[in-house]
Amino acid sequence: MIAERIKSLHQQLDPLGVTLVAVSKFHPVEALMQAYDAGQRIFGESRVQELIAKIPLLPKDIQWHFIGHLQTNKIRQIIGHTSLIESVDSLRLLNLIDAESSRAGVITRILLQAHIAQEETKTGFSPDELLEYFDTKSYNSLKSTHICGLMGMATNTDDSIRINQDFAQLRRLFGDIRTSQGDELRGFDILSMGMSGDYVDALNHGTTSVRIGTTIFGSRQYKNE
Ligand SMILES: *Cc1c(COP(=O)(O)O)cnc(C)c1O
Repeated sequence: MIAERIKSLHQQLDPLGVTLVAVSKFHPVEALMQAYDAGQRIFGESRVQELIAKIPLLPKDIQWHFIGHLQTNKIRQIIGHTSLIESVDSLRLLNLIDAESSRAGVITRILLQAHIAQEETKTGFSPDELLEYFDTKSYNSLKSTHICGLMGMATNTDDSIRINQDFAQLRRLFGDIRTSQGDELRGFDILSMGMSGDYVDALNHGTTSVRIGTTIFGSRQYKNE
């Protein structure tokens, strides 16, 4: 089942040039191996402990994306172990990642998490904060961090008009930043939006990377929490 879902998602996404991040949080390594054997190489995890436990148990050519809220006291544990941290949600976190990366002698690739959804609980940068960050060219002060784009979530709702507005806004923000920075901002080309319930809408709005868990692995058992 997992293998079939991986294959059919790739059939849908690969021709569009859209990256599939298989969100494997709360799923056992056997499930990840089924996806791996079907050709999947990019996996998303949202908890540091779980990510660090899984890495040594799985093949070395997996690219790990961290997609959860990263507590600053856990940065050091994952620096050097991720191919992309998608969920950088504050300047403080960004600057600490940069410092830790310098210390470890690695370049860390990250996305800035944009807060668009109409929910108090979702974290991230507001559109205004992001525009100001780029207008003031603050990224020039980063020594060991490469900002590769934006990650965002639509409002958690059944209202497809709302979801489409959120994705349109994220796409516009991403485009505005790219246009305003031109050649100065190199490699800012990932727009990560779309999950199991809404990735088709995200495709219509020009996402470049979707984060899909439930559709691939089934529902999560949170019994360890
Ligand atoms: C869990 C999670 C996903 C995957 O959600 P599904 O609905 O299972 O596809 C995507 N993005 C983030 C940030 C997540 O935490």
